[in-house]
Amino acid sequence: AKGAGRGQAQYYSRDFHEQIEKRARLESDLVNALEKQQFVLHYQPQVDRDGKKLIGIEALIRWQHPELGMIPPDEFISIAEESNFINELGRWVIKSACAQFRVWLDEFALTDISFSVAVNLSAKQLKDKGLIDYCRTCIEHYCIPANRFELELTESNLVTSLEAVDTLNELANIGVELALDDFGTGYSSLSHLKDYPFTILKIDKMFVQSAESGQDDSMLKAVCAFAKSLNYKTVAEGIETAYQHKMCVDLEVDRLQGFYFSKPLAASELKQQWLLGQDK
Ligand code: C2E
Ligand code: CA
Ligand code: CA
Ligand code: CA
Repeated sequence: AKGAGRGQAQYYSRDFHEQIEKRARLESDLVNALEKQQFVLHYQPQVDRDGKKLIGIEALIRWQHPELGMIPPDEFISIAEESNFINELGRWVIKSACAQFRVWLDEFALTDISFSVAVNLSAKQLKDKGLIDYCRTCIEHYCIPANRFELELTESNLVTSLEAVDTLNELANIGVELALDDFGTGYSSLSHLKDYPFTILKIDKMFVQSAESGQDDSMLKAVCAFAKSLNYKTVAEGIETAYQHKMCVDLEVDRLQGFYFSKPLAASELKQQWLLGQDK
């Protein structure tokens, strides 16, 4: 909420017209970007408490626009969600992440698979009737260990409908794990959390970043305690400082993610910086 106010001020003081034009440009270019192969996944490491061992990887989409450069997901996912294009794009993400996971498994002959791979799903994709079969087919085709594949849904746009619960249950039945992203920032009622098959809560960076020496860390503590008492696995995101790292260790968060450990990386960078050096 701190950043939102600042962002809004900037938004109005900048050339308003330019913003509108850019969005219109992205909107029209988005349609063909998939067939032009302009999307790429970057991968952000998730580490264990000592901060060294790679135990998870989150796939994050970027758009390499030929003229506008690298465009972050916040600038185009919402556009994609305005039409059914999000379904097509979301399927591309699932397939690409599975294909990359397969490459890692082969290249490193990981007998004891030591990390999971997560992708982000838009809540709108839960309305895609073919989504479940598509996921199942990808996992089978690439021989992915389903329990090492995670789907993240953000709390804020998760529709509380019975249909959504059904779809999530069917996804869970494939054997993949479901993570509730940005936990603590949405409107979902805590009492309904157990109606969903989530096994992982991703503690929003807002709580993590409120933990600084001398600042109020009571929310972070409360959110962690809540997740633990209900037996969720926890991931803390947005860790940027040693202090935040220490806090998360003290609170026994299972997985740690943030710029303090690594920014999202291209697959080749992840291989160089993380996979080649890991104990198998
Ligand atoms: P998210 O799922 O909450 O992902 C975390 C975001 O925080 C990423 O931004 C990541 O780069 C950023 N981040 C990681 N560590 C730190 C840190 O230490 N400090 C700060 N300040 N930020 C950090 P990114 O990649 O720009 O993605 C933004 C959002 O776009 C994601 O938020 C997710 O909701 C959405 N998104 C990304 N990829 C996809 C996708 O393939 N499909 C869908 N539907 N949404 C996606
Ligand atoms: Ca996420
Ligand atoms: Ca998040
Ligand atoms: Ca977010």
